[in-house]
Amino acid sequence: MQADDPHVTLITPSAPITTPSHGGRAKCLQRLVRLDLPVPRTVALSFDTVHRIAQGEVPPPALILGQFAPGTLLCVRPSSEDPDWGGPGSVLNIGMNDATFVEYSDRIGAEAASALYMRFVTGYAIHVARLDPDVFEEIDTTGQQGLSDALRAYEEEAEEPFPQDPAVQLTAVLRTMARAWEGTTARLLRQAKGAPVDAGLGLIVQEMALGLGQGECGSGVLQLVNSDTGLPQITGRYLHQSQGRDALHHESAALFLERDPRGPSLEELAPEAFEQLKAHARLMRERLRAEMQIEFTIESGRVHILDGVRVKRSPRAALRIAVRLAEDGIITPEEALLRVEPRGLSELLHRQISPDAERDVIGRGVAASPGAATGKIVFSAAEAQASAARGEPCILVRRETSPEDVRGMHVAAAVLTERGGMTSHAAVIGRGLGLPSVVGAANMGFRLNDKVLISQDGRRFREGDTITVDGTSGQILAGAPEMVEAALDDAFRTFMSWADEARDIGIRANADTPADAATARNFAAQGIGLCRTEHMFFEADRITPMREMIFADSPEDRKAALARLLPMQRADFTELFRIMEGMPVCIRLFDPPLHEFLPTDRAGLRDLAEALDLPVSDVTRRVESMGEYNPMLGMRGVRLGIAVPEIYDMQARAIFEATLDASKDGAPVEPEIMLPLVSAMKEVELVKTRIDAVAAAVRNERGRAFDYSLGVMVETPRACLRADEIAQHAHFMSFGTNDLTQMTYGLSRDDAGRFMSHYVQQGVFPEDPFHRLDPEGVGELIKIGVARGRHGNRGIMLSICGEHGGDPDSIAFCREAGIDYVSCSPFRVPIARLAAAQLAL
Ligand code: PEP
Ligand code: MG
Repeated sequence: MQADDPHVTLITPSAPITTPSHGGRAKCLQRLVRLDLPVPRTVALSFDTVHRIAQGEVPPPALILGQFAPGTLLCVRPSSEDPDWGGPGSVLNIGMNDATFVEYSDRIGAEAASALYMRFVTGYAIHVARLDPDVFEEIDTTGQQGLSDALRAYEEEAEEPFPQDPAVQLTAVLRTMARAWEGTTARLLRQAKGAPVDAGLGLIVQEMALGLGQGECGSGVLQLVNSDTGLPQITGRYLHQSQGRDALHHESAALFLERDPRGPSLEELAPEAFEQLKAHARLMRERLRAEMQIEFTIESGRVHILDGVRVKRSPRAALRIAVRLAEDGIITPEEALLRVEPRGLSELLHRQISPDAERDVIGRGVAASPGAATGKIVFSAAEAQASAARGEPCILVRRETSPEDVRGMHVAAAVLTERGGMTSHAAVIGRGLGLPSVVGAANMGFRLNDKVLISQDGRRFREGDTITVDGTSGQILAGAPEMVEAALDDAFRTFMSWADEARDIGIRANADTPADAATARNFAAQGIGLCRTEHMFFEADRITPMREMIFADSPEDRKAALARLLPMQRADFTELFRIMEGMPVCIRLFDPPLHEFLPTDRAGLRDLAEALDLPVSDVTRRVESMGEYNPMLGMRGVRLGIAVPEIYDMQARAIFEATLDASKDGAPVEPEIMLPLVSAMKEVELVKTRIDAVAAAVRNERGRAFDYSLGVMVETPRACLRADEIAQHAHFMSFGTNDLTQMTYGLSRDDAGRFMSHYVQQGVFPEDPFHRLDPEGVGELIKIGVARGRHGNRGIMLSICGEHGGDPDSIAFCREAGIDYVSCSPFRVPIARLAAAQLAL
């Protein structure tokens, strides 16, 4: 390297410093220099230079030392492209030797000079000369005796005296830090955080601001916002007579910044310095256009700014910070939108475990529905209801859930299951209800008959014991950790309104009940994209007429049972229409196999026999005869509509009568009716004929007109392939990507959870395809369906309503594919709105 090497650059306002060649810290320091902040003199070494140092090519130390006054103490710190990628630890007080020690003793006192020298000797011995840390950790670090002991220990261990030449010291430090970055462990660690294989490291060499000595001396960090809440609050730490990040590590010794009854504060010790720091932080916020944490040193009352980094922030803090920066005119609303990670929003929509809380983790599973809740363990829906009646929050623990558990889920605080994945029953219902849910917790023992839940480390939890379900992380915890509340405040609403202005793809919600619809409205969904009507039959008072309908022997009996269900369905739909106030509501006709509504245990069979006035043996035989080997591929969806058409007739009538009822006192309603699991055009034709006939009958009876549209769920591979002709009979098509994924992979959505983690860990699948849409296989079928559907019917409206509708990557795929809107669980609507906005920016 030459003395005029361009890769060793003094940081001045106009120096050619860039992030990709010198790293983020060097760039940030240049910005601080440009703001005329009191930054100690600093030299930046480029990625290229540091790489060459690691290879053994060392720049002449004079090149660097020549930038500083003789005898100056220096520190070297890493400057990678992204601070999250880590880097070697900083080395402080380079240049300390026996001669400078004497000088500094005169200047700042022997004790402070000893501390400076001691710190350098220890750091150098352990990190640079790689001597045994235990030897140095045993030395009493205070006073001159400690220093002599450290120097002697160095000489004994290294078999040579401690190097006195600053050039030798600096060269060794630079080489060690450069090599540490290129080591295998460091490389693997940063790659795990998303760093590219060839990520570079820059180094900065900075004049030390001492923090030790006469007058008020010390170091610390300060920021203007609270990292957890994002609300304005001066926070940080300061430690009198300290260097580097000591204030952060010596928790008990650290002082507070502002006046505090717990101890003397920086504000009291050095009011002027404190005022200056606040002013510097405000200037940095305004000019660097971000909330910054400043690292500072005070040397005999004088403030030095050593560094600035973007403040760490929780998702709720990220949103509030971005909104306030935009409202203060520092960034634009569009920039604010890009600064918040969509997936992080779910943390704002639910109660969460406090980031400071202790976590006694007793098991883990799939994080199926976010938010956290604490309650007493119950093992059945009936116990959940009893617990709710006593006013005690409970956690419903089941092997897996079925429609019979829904009443329990409605009243439980959270749900935990042994089996299942992202689209299993518990997961789908949990997300719909906004109920924290962890499913597939296979590392716990579910001894349901004994009413015992066994933790991963063998502890036994019984009915009534308190546990916490964290549906955000997938963890199950013992006891009741501290929580933080949801944060749906003005900042959230403002932020989401900016997202809505930016996005160009529609967002609806999957909502089955009035409560879901209210949540969907609350989160500003543009309508309901999927109402799964079967979920309306799970309520206790409905399941009996439903079972009577299923058990009906003759068309007359079936008609009588359906007549009891009709007013219930009509009331459901009327309420949904009223809540949605003229927004589109897409109602899917009955989908699941009928046997899902029948009891499986003895007690349930006995109750049903009583209700139907039949012998238990009769009921048991009939229930068994309805079982299917593979119900997901059996008599369900539109197949049921064709085999037992009275069910769809009843539902269509309920929808049309509700349309007229709701239109009477509100905006006119135009319902969308959707047929599930279609695979052939003829299915659509047949059902359409019957539904048209019901519509004509209702118009006739009521003497009033109304419109409706009929659409098809595209969730079998055949429906994608035959979309051209299917589309000719449909006003809209909605891709049901849960079933489409299941059928494309030939992979049961209810059983995939058992081995999905092995598949993802071993890289067979990059992600759980029920969670993130598989763009290659399922995606290709969707693209075929879109192209052929539009060919068959140019004006057809296209959407997706599988769980993927709430996943940002899947939304990006849908937007690219030309889909008009996505529909997802109500609590994922804000995430979808933000993800869609970011795609459009
Ligand atoms: C789907 O299959 O993607 C869908 C939305 O329907 P369901 O989850 O009710 O089967
Ligand atoms: Mg489906």
